[in-house]
Amino acid sequence: MVASSEKNNIESVLQEERVFQPPTEFSNNAHIKSIQDYEQLYEKAKNDPESFWAELAEQELHWFKKWDKVLDWNPPNAKWFVNGKINMSYNCLDRHLSTWRRNKAAIIWEGEPGDSRTLTYGELHREVCQFANVLKDMGVQKGDRIGIYMPMVPEAAIAMLACTRIGAPHSVVFGGFSAEALRDRLEDAEAKVVITADGGFRKDKIVPLKPEVDQALENGASSVQKVIVVQRTKQDVTMREGRDYWWHDLQKDASPKCDAEVMDSEDPLFILYTSGSTGKPKGVVHTTGGYNLYTHMTTKWIFDLKDTDVYWCTADVGWITGHSYIVYGPLSNGATSLMYEGVPRPSNPGCFWDVVEKYGVNVFYTAPTAIRAFMKMGEELPNARDLSSLRLLGTVGEPINPEAWMWYHRVIGGEKCPIVDTWWQTETGGIMITPLPGATPTKPGSATRPFPGIIADVVDKDGNAVPDNAGGYLVIKHPWPSMLRTVYKNPERFQKTYWDPIPQVEGKPVYFAGDSARRDENGYFWIMGRTDDVMNVSGHRLGSMELESALVSHPAVAEASVVGVPHEVKGEDIYAFVTLKDNYSPSDELNKELKQHVVTKISAIARPGTIQFAEALPKTRSGKIVRRFLRQIAAGQDIVGDKSTVVDPSVLDKLREKG
Ligand code: ATP
Ligand code: MG
Repeated sequence: MVASSEKNNIESVLQEERVFQPPTEFSNNAHIKSIQDYEQLYEKAKNDPESFWAELAEQELHWFKKWDKVLDWNPPNAKWFVNGKINMSYNCLDRHLSTWRRNKAAIIWEGEPGDSRTLTYGELHREVCQFANVLKDMGVQKGDRIGIYMPMVPEAAIAMLACTRIGAPHSVVFGGFSAEALRDRLEDAEAKVVITADGGFRKDKIVPLKPEVDQALENGASSVQKVIVVQRTKQDVTMREGRDYWWHDLQKDASPKCDAEVMDSEDPLFILYTSGSTGKPKGVVHTTGGYNLYTHMTTKWIFDLKDTDVYWCTADVGWITGHSYIVYGPLSNGATSLMYEGVPRPSNPGCFWDVVEKYGVNVFYTAPTAIRAFMKMGEELPNARDLSSLRLLGTVGEPINPEAWMWYHRVIGGEKCPIVDTWWQTETGGIMITPLPGATPTKPGSATRPFPGIIADVVDKDGNAVPDNAGGYLVIKHPWPSMLRTVYKNPERFQKTYWDPIPQVEGKPVYFAGDSARRDENGYFWIMGRTDDVMNVSGHRLGSMELESALVSHPAVAEASVVGVPHEVKGEDIYAFVTLKDNYSPSDELNKELKQHVVTKISAIARPGTIQFAEALPKTRSGKIVRRFLRQIAAGQDIVGDKSTVVDPSVLDKLREKG
């Protein structure tokens, strides 16, 4: 992965000097109130990670039986809270029932057509227990895998919690995936039951789901014995006798009494396939106790949740962000988690701001791709709504360009909300590098500092420390509770992908994240992009993020994606794909101006050889730019590789025609 002929360091070329202090009032009321408090926690966790996590596990979670040993670390295999007994659904539901939270909203749901539903903790518990019994009656046993392929409806969360209640690991597949992608994932997980819906509402259309399941099962996935179908859109679907059942038929007769299964801390909780930005998705396995603790603590300290808050994470439950920060982290904390079926769409591009206004959302967590889409459309949409309830903003999924950060801060946050730029991965289970909003001064474009207990570092390909501000490879040096335990049925890939690329650091194996980064003189981390996307231009190794950010800082540019293209003299030349804001149009003049803008912002070495204007950039279904195909287009090659993770592959053909 890291070729030995490469020069060691990745150069950082972008300067960003702005610093924002947490607002005093926010800090006074926050869980973690100052940078000194953060540093104390960080040091405590660093010096004695096992006591740090054990204390929190004891204070914050319910255990049926306490563990014998906090950590068993046999690289790359970690076991947390060895022999501890716990149940995730119990921690998310049952323990709140004996408190006033029994009647607090657990989930507030808003459908795309405007229908809505609120489930209190008491109601959610009842539904989960009933559905857990439905699964048991179907013969589902502890350890069986369950596929979930659903729109963003409360039943998706109910299904997940019911699985964890009976100890059947779920594998949620994003509802926008095709029958083929679904089949591959169901086959890999050997799922016994699939939970789906007739369809879902998405972007003003009905997206059929049950027909996709039918097709997936026709062409394989022979492990699947039963299919449970939620009626959502009410279009006709074929129900196969003896295999397919309606959710509402099963649920209405099911008993609401179902004890939570006593699970071992290390029993698998779920399998989730990564987004596939860089190639074939990996079946990431998470286990119970460590994941519960880590998502609980990160939700509490990073989103600074209060009992009066309405918290909204806009991700889909099909991604890790939806698992950790719509369902498990918030519910474990007894929070109110808002779930929204819709996405910005032609009939209502500003729907997010309608939802913020309608429910008085206080904490809002979204992705850079959404923020850039709003920047492209202009400020009128958010300005037309009352967003004054917002007190904290978050972002995840890609590096956020400093200008997108500034826009988010000014237009959405009204210059009063701290922003948490959270770096993490499907594999890490929870947020790893992030501000704590009442404590950490923020710098636009930096995920700032590691969460307490996370020992992150930047090293060169040989595992040597690099100086401040020199780019290198982001690694994690100590296991953490929610780290992936393996790649499902593929321990070799687990070893090879995450533990082999960087040799030992200070005599110990380290987790290789696959991202490049630099750390500045204040210990702040700046993610520079994926290591696969590093370019080598006249001997300078450059990450994609900084070049893209330079382009996005031009007022005409909405989004940019930069790749290297082979060049006789320079080795590689910079090739940029750029989409413009709605009130700008492409011209030769603008093309020249943008090249010059990059030179002014960064330096002459960063001058793009080519800028290609584009209507849209290829994105994964989770909204990330896919550069591996752009590299092929820039080089004039045929487009090869697995395109199934790209939302709209026709975008690729259009770019190729125009290139
Ligand atoms: P695959 O691993 O299949 O290629 P993926 O990496 O896109 O897919 P995820 O686990 O959803 O799958 O994404 C994690 C990656 O997203 C990180 O490794 C990083 O590249 C990027 N990322 C997430 N959050 C941030 C952030 N706040 N800043 C910078 N990059 C981020
Ligand atoms: Mg990844």
